Amino acid sequence: MTSFETTTAEALETLRNHCELHLPGDDGYDAARTPWNLAVDQRPAAVAIPRSVDEVAAVVRAATAAGLRVAPQSTGHGAGPLGERALDDVVLLRLSEFTGVTVDPAARTATVVGGTLWQDVIAAAAPHGLTAPHGSAPDVAVAGYILGGGLSFYGREHGVAANSVRSADVVLYDGTVAHASADQNPDLFWAVRGGGGNLGVVVSIELELLPYADVFAGMLLWDRSRAAEVVPAWTRWSRTAPESVTTSLRIMSFPPLPELPPFLSGRDIVVIDGAVLADDDTAAAILEPLRALRPELDTFARIPSANLLFVHMDPPAPTPTVGDHSVLGDLDDAAVTALLAQVGDGTATGLMFTELRHLGGAIARPVDAGGAVSHIPGVYALLCVAVAPTPQAAVAGKAAAFAVVRAMSAWSLPNLIHTFAENRVDAGRMYDGEDWARLCLVRDDVAPGAVFVANHGL
Ligand SMILES: Cc1cc2nc3c(=O)[nH]c(=O)nc-3n(C[C@H](O)[C@H](O)[C@H](O)COP(=O)(O)OP(=O)(O)OC[C@H]3O[C@@H](n4cnc5c(N)ncnc54)[C@H](O)[C@@H]3O)c2cc1C
Repeated sequence: MTSFETTTAEALETLRNHCELHLPGDDGYDAARTPWNLAVDQRPAAVAIPRSVDEVAAVVRAATAAGLRVAPQSTGHGAGPLGERALDDVVLLRLSEFTGVTVDPAARTATVVGGTLWQDVIAAAAPHGLTAPHGSAPDVAVAGYILGGGLSFYGREHGVAANSVRSADVVLYDGTVAHASADQNPDLFWAVRGGGGNLGVVVSIELELLPYADVFAGMLLWDRSRAAEVVPAWTRWSRTAPESVTTSLRIMSFPPLPELPPFLSGRDIVVIDGAVLADDDTAAAILEPLRALRPELDTFARIPSANLLFVHMDPPAPTPTVGDHSVLGDLDDAAVTALLAQVGDGTATGLMFTELRHLGGAIARPVDAGGAVSHIPGVYALLCVAVAPTPQAAVAGKAAAFAVVRAMSAWSLPNLIHTFAENRVDAGRMYDGEDWARLCLVRDDVAPGAVFVANHGL
């Protein structure tokens, strides 16, 4: 062992006094290092599992004193880019056991602890007739989603989720806790709303909640043989859909599995789902052109807003996935033809789904008092995902996803979406030019030496 390795090993051993810790060779190391995305093989120098702010601070202090870096991770839904790096000098800080939420119904806010999942926030808000700008999956954590912007089915009306943050508490590189709000540490407050895990460990976020006890939401489903009708009809419809509507269109393939409902098992389908923030009659009128396409399943109805977490049918448990994404502008007939040539009727691509998520509306409008990601320019997000249970399947799945994204490059915009980026990409493309430079300056100020390793580094 070199003297650095000896010092590091000793420092890591002392961490066991502060926090649950797993080192390579320990029995629990493999389980502790495994992220939600089971295709990601992340092998850090240690995995620390804190249960309090003090434990987070102790780990950060000890790690940085030993010359190590720290990678905060809540669930590992966004772990893809981390798995592409050497993590030999990195302590993975898993926040999965450091959770909790308090709702203040009068103020219409929730205060959310480090690694808390959206499903827990929504469960706490629902009894007060409130909800929050969560994404499509119940078990994504608030922190990683909000730190990247966050696209919800409330998005075209209410904007990216990061705009709903009122304040955050962040453990910095020296173990101190900074409160970031419009009045205190305003640069950190700006940076934390979109700047990812590069600045420190977010141990608490105060969020504005949304006043929806129920919502008109659901899905429409067709066999994939109808794709050539449904896809152009949806792109035409989405061009004039009001901002109160946020929907997604997916072309999906499911293997025959007994645990899947019959309408999914072994099926190739087209699904449109989302939410309409309007009264029932208005919502029905808005959806009429899509319903006129006679879907075989139509679940759109008024539902408790908490149930919107399940409308998108995201995998209910950790899953191995790979994928790629891009941001698209308006889609003309040639664009729809190009997409259908890749994923339309009968074309086997190996992808679990190809998704067009409708952007625009408030998602595309910059917010004056917003943070590093206050808006996302573009009309659609294109997201291609494959299930990848083996390294060979991961290679094939990535190739399939890249092929679809490449086929749509004539309609793609230069920007990328932080929360949809599954691979290591140029993170500068997630920010407006001046915001990118400002973010790097704030990071250098609050996290000198790039001690925090985010999935999307600056
Ligand atoms: C099935 C599925 C559905 C999804 N649906 C949507 C959707 O509808 N809309 C959308 O916008 N995105 C969606 N995403 C993407 C998801 O929002 C991102 O992957 C997000 O980063 C996940 O956050 P996490 O904390 O759960 O994941 P993690 O992998 O734990 O975190 C991602 C990164 O965030 C940072 N981070 C996490 N927690 C902290 C913390 N407490 N302090 C500091 N940094 C932290 C770290 O840099 C970390 O690498 C989805 C992803 C999946 C797999």
